[in-house]
Amino acid sequence: RFYTPDPLGPGEFVLTGPEAHHLTAVRRFAEGDEVVLFNGDGHEYPARVLSAGKKTVALSVLAPVAADRELGFPLVVGSALPKSDRADFLVEKLTELGATRFVPLLTTRAVVQPKASVVEKFSRAVIEASKQCGRNQLMLVDAPQKWDDFVARPDLPGPRVVLHTGPGLGRVGSGGGTIAVGPEGGFTPSEVDRARENGWLVLSLGSRVLRVETAVLAAAALLGERSV
Ligand code: SAM
Repeated sequence: RFYTPDPLGPGEFVLTGPEAHHLTAVRRFAEGDEVVLFNGDGHEYPARVLSAGKKTVALSVLAPVAADRELGFPLVVGSALPKSDRADFLVEKLTELGATRFVPLLTTRAVVQPKASVVEKFSRAVIEASKQCGRNQLMLVDAPQKWDDFVARPDLPGPRVVLHTGPGLGRVGSGGGTIAVGPEGGFTPSEVDRARENGWLVLSLGSRVLRVETAVLAAAALLGERSV
């Protein structure tokens, strides 16, 4: 599977840049070989290699095939970021689990606050993970957002759930929605209050304190289940 941001359709198509390099130099595809192209429009496009150069690959693209590997409902995750390589891991796994949108969060107790440049970095990770897991729609990556702005956003699907540690909280369910995960230092009481004021539920994943990426992935796996 090879990705292009360009529109695709039956006919000749020229693939360039890192994907062309990947196709020829890394994967060693050559004239006559069959590959699959995707661009995030929900389809995949079987194609045959016409000629394979180092920097450009000419392909004959066939009719698109609908290949829907989405959850069927929106699953938005807002999260404080763990340190660099664990953040990349988090984005890769969230893509595999079918999340539809990821929002890096600016929170009070975060050791590292996300910079605007993470959008490009994470978007590349989404493409790589989509090539591997077969998704034909890309998880969206938003610009880092302040907690107060995030919890007041009108476009987030419900139920909206803040994951929080501590006793006496209800447990996370299934069927999509929005989850928010705090930094290694946890959410402050006023951040939790602000979410509650905006109608968010405050729920738990159990009695053990999980790392940010574990909490994100466990919650995404639970919410990614279809409700019964
Ligand atoms: N000392 C912090 C505290 O007690 O809140 C630990 C924060 S934890 C490393 C990072 C984030 O993961 C938390 O803010 C929360 O969003 C989420 N989290 C971790 N364990 C959780 C659990 N058992 N239930 C719900 N959320 C959890």
